Amino acid sequence: MFEPSQSAAIDAFREFLPRAGRDYAASRNYDYGPDQRHNISMLSPWVRLRVLPEWTILRETLKQHSPSVAAKFIDEVCWRTYWKGWLQQHPGVWDDYLEELASTRRAFQRRADYEKAQIGATGIECFDAWARELIETGYLHNHARMWFASIWIHTLHLPWVLGAAFFHKHLYDGDPASNTLSWRWVAGLHTAGKCYLARASNIEKYTDGRFKPDAILANEPRIPETSFSRPEKVPLADVPPLPQAGRLGLILHEDDLSAVDWLARASKPTTVCGFFAEAAYRAHDIAERVIDFRRACMASALPASAKLASHTESVIEWAVHQDLDAVVLAEPPVGLWTPIVPELRVRLEALGIGLHCARHWWDAHFFPQAGAGFFKLKKSIPQAIEQL
Ligand SMILES: Cc1cc2nc3c(=O)[nH]c(=O)nc-3n(C[C@H](O)[C@H](O)[C@H](O)COP(=O)(O)OP(=O)(O)OC[C@H]3O[C@@H](n4cnc5c(N)ncnc54)[C@H](O)[C@@H]3O)c2cc1C
Repeated sequence: MFEPSQSAAIDAFREFLPRAGRDYAASRNYDYGPDQRHNISMLSPWVRLRVLPEWTILRETLKQHSPSVAAKFIDEVCWRTYWKGWLQQHPGVWDDYLEELASTRRAFQRRADYEKAQIGATGIECFDAWARELIETGYLHNHARMWFASIWIHTLHLPWVLGAAFFHKHLYDGDPASNTLSWRWVAGLHTAGKCYLARASNIEKYTDGRFKPDAILANEPRIPETSFSRPEKVPLADVPPLPQAGRLGLILHEDDLSAVDWLARASKPTTVCGFFAEAAYRAHDIAERVIDFRRACMASALPASAKLASHTESVIEWAVHQDLDAVVLAEPPVGLWTPIVPELRVRLEALGIGLHCARHWWDAHFFPQAGAGFFKLKKSIPQAIEQL
């Protein structure tokens, strides 16, 4: 369904673009089923890796639609940036999620209700269909994700962290920010006094009658025991200017494959190395086909002469072999890469090789706006459009 290359992403985007205006705004909430996805873009697996970065999406969209006509689509693309920027300033939420996930997994080992939810055998027809669709296709419509998470938490009374990990494992677009924070929002942990409760009538309407859940859905939310508390906010990291002299190497990682363009232009590296953090993917129990998709996207983004490394050791070998003075990389967002950068920095600096992170102007513009709600960030979209 999703081909791992930029040309496939561009083809899918071109095909969708004429519908990114009024059609999208009017119909995006409908989940017509896996064979009828014309009302949404289905670009998320590529956007997740920035095979297709947000600024390119906006620039091309605005060639075909006015900002007001494409406002809904633009907002949704910027929701991704909102979640990324928010998690970047609240990294403890990711650490807490991982910690809670580890202990909850131990507690839920071999629990029949948890097993049934994952294989789509709960007896709730729509939920079971979405569980199977996720496993079979690696994708779910946004509304189905909301309904599924709501039923998982509020009807089945399963821990939200297990549901988030289930999505993260199977979704081609699985993302530490969008996924973890959306699950927290459904659970009532992101915004004080707000959670998301799926209603049978809403499911029936927006699945166009494909599902008609009866009285089995919860009428009251089940807010998790770790109820809402304001997480610690930390300042965004300083990003010093890139070195102007010496032999520079560019490390490309799968959280921003577009760096092969923008960061290469800014840093003029002597050499490029892709670093696909395979061990981190396995440690996070990500499905094999998601790993394959992302590795193949990286391979297709790299220049033919570049090395594709899958562990720290071979990146170090590359840096030494290339006689580098420093390496540059796009600042990795909070997530799988969080522990990798400090380790890499220590190892490289011990060899006299510097490590520098760079932030794309899009993130530098939007991340500081990713506060308590989406509205502040939304207000800064017109300024970003001026820079496209
Ligand atoms: C519980 C839950 C978990 C989710 N997990 C993920 C995830 O792991 N990765 C992920 O990319 N999205 C996630 N989303 C957001 C959203 O469901 C998907 O981005 C969207 O369904 C992807 O389909 P599309 O490309 O057709 O989106 P479109 O509607 O065509 O939107 C275009 C692009 O905008 C972005 N986008 C759209 N809606 C959202 C949103 N609500 N939040 C963040 N970005 C958005 C995506 O990059 C998407 O490709 C989650 C939502 C929920 C409710």
